[in-house]
Order: sequence, then structure tokens, then C-alpha cells
Amino acid sequence: MDVEIARTLDGALAYLASRPDAEPIAGGTDLMVEMNFGRHRPKAVVAIDRIDELRELLVAHGRVRMSAGVTYARMLREEIGSPAMRQAARTVGSPQIRNAGTIGGNLGTCSPAGDTLPVLAALDASVVLRSASGDRRVPFTQYMTGPKKTIRRHDELVVAVEWNDAGDAQVFMKAGTRNAMVIAVASLALVVDGRRSRVGIALGSSGPTIIRATEAERFGEGLMDETGWGRRRVPSDAALAELGSRVAAAARPIDDVRGTAAYRRHVLSVMARRAFARAVLLA
Ligand SMILES: Cc1cc2nc3c(=O)[nH]c(=O)nc-3n(C[C@H](O)[C@H](O)[C@H](O)COP(=O)(O)OP(=O)(O)OC[C@H]3O[C@@H](n4cnc5c(N)ncnc54)[C@H](O)[C@@H]3O)c2cc1C
Repeated sequence: MDVEIARTLDGALAYLASRPDAEPIAGGTDLMVEMNFGRHRPKAVVAIDRIDELRELLVAHGRVRMSAGVTYARMLREEIGSPAMRQAARTVGSPQIRNAGTIGGNLGTCSPAGDTLPVLAALDASVVLRSASGDRRVPFTQYMTGPKKTIRRHDELVVAVEWNDAGDAQVFMKAGTRNAMVIAVASLALVVDGRRSRVGIALGSSGPTIIRATEAERFGEGLMDETGWGRRRVPSDAALAELGSRVAAAARPIDDVRGTAAYRRHVLSVMARRAFARAVLLA
């Protein structure tokens, strides 16, 4: 296997453009597993973990930009970004995985169980893709087209994700078969953005892609209109139960080794109720 170590973004993009059989490698926590199990062996890899331009994490004019090389450990160390993203980062793997694994790699693999992905969907984030011929920005919901399928072209890198700074009222929840080092049986990210009067709810491990629970989002916004945005009033149990039902109805889960479809719907409705009640107290 040819291994190219890129020091600049332009160098990595030029290599990808010249080698259609090459793939990027960042932390290697997904790609090396595939290689070690003999499931996938690219002819060439370009290491992108030494590229400074991919390490940016900043807020400017109310917009967060998290570059592809930001690791989970860094998300946890720095206050910038999103509270739900930090909660998701805390659940990922072990300290070793959190030190090496990156948001760009989570987007490169794009598994429905990827823990940052429901957060990006709930935040209405955009994925910034770059090739030698320029940048394009795509809403996350258009970027992911199926399980481990995206619209990214071979010669493009994910360089960053961007979203509007949505405040503190954000929650990420993940149900698994144990408390740590676990792939989500189902996960949920919920954002109550008082500045924009918007509720975002997205589900992981609940269908072939990350799913936005749009009817539940509109219902949640109606509840916030009634109780008052920023007034920190938890809606009634009946209202929360209705929100939970709408979230469960949005899911398209399957039965698999990790859980049944019925269990996934149940756990999603419970997580939605709890997440909304928790988020309104943070608004
Ligand atoms: C023990 C273990 C536990 C784990 N636990 C979790 C967990 O709890 N939650 C979770 O979500 N994931 C988990 N993972 C999976 C993995 O750690 C994450 O998906 C991580 O974000 C991958 O990032 P990476 O930088 O290591 O990616 P890599 O392995 O380097 O790359 C993954 C894929 O993305 C592509 N890629 C990498 N960077 C880019 C880029 N900038 N642009 C385009 N394509 C790119 C690569 O070509 C490759 O196809 C776990 C993995 C292991 C081994």
C-alpha cells in the first residue's frame, strides 16, 4: 500500500486528484479496523492528521466552524461548539479512540450509528467539502444518502462542518447495551434554539440515514410558543408523551443484533420526553 503523508490541504487534495485509488486516513479508528479485519484494503492512503488547516475550531458572527480534524478529546476540552456535540463526544469509544477519532472521520464513514451525526442534523449543520477545484457547502441531511453512503466525490475532503451557535438548550442521548464503548441501539439529539424559535430533533441508529423528526420539531415549537421561549417551563406529561409518540413515529428502525425495532421506537419516545424536559430548563 502506498502511504502519502500530507502536510497541507492543497497537497492532500492534489494527491487525491492524481490517485483515484487513494483514500484519506485521519485518526484511523474506522479505517484501520476495516483493514485489520481484511474487509477493505485501499491501494493507497493519504494521511491528513498533520494538516494544521483541518484543526480549526471557532465561532465567528454567531456561526460555529469545526474543522474535520477536530478530535472528540478536543471537543470535550474546549467550550466552543455545541453542548450536544460535547455530550455525544463523551459517549464515543474509550480515551484512546477519543484522542484519535475525528469529526471528519465520523462523516467519512457516515454510519447511521455515528454519534456526532444526529447532533449535526438537529443543528441544521452544513458540511463543507473541498476538492482541487473549490468548495461546496451541503446541508448534512443532503450529504448522507444511506448507510455509509454520502454525496462526497472521491477527490473531495470534508474540511469542516458549520452551524449557527444555538445556545445551551441542547441534549444528546444514546441507548446502548452497556454504558461505555458501545454502538448506539438508538440515539437522539435535541436542540431548543430560543434565538431562532426553532426546535431540532434528529435520530441515530433508527433508520438507513440520520432522521429528522420534523413533525415532532413543529410540535415542540408549538409547545415552546405556549409555555414561552426561554421561560423554563416544562410542558405537561401529556404534551411530552405526544412529543415522544411523534418522534417514535418518525423512526424507520429495523430488528437487528443490537435491538428490535419495537424497542428502538420505545426508547426513542422515552429519550425525546426526557431530552425536551431537560432542554427547556437550559433555555
Ligand atoms: C473501539 C472503537 C469504539 C468506537 N466507538 C464509537 C462510538 O462510540 N461512536 C461513534 O460514532 N464511533 C465510534 N467508533 C468509530 C470511529 O472512532 C469514529 O467513526 C471516528 O469518528 C472515526 O474518525 P477517524 O478520524 O478515526 O476516521 P478514519 O478511520 O481515519 O476514517 C474513517 C473514514 O472516513 C474517511 N475520512 C476521514 N477523514 C476524512 C475527511 N476529512 N474527509 C473525507 N473522508 C474522510 C476515511 O477515508 C475513512 O473512509 C469507534 C471505533 C472503535 C475502533
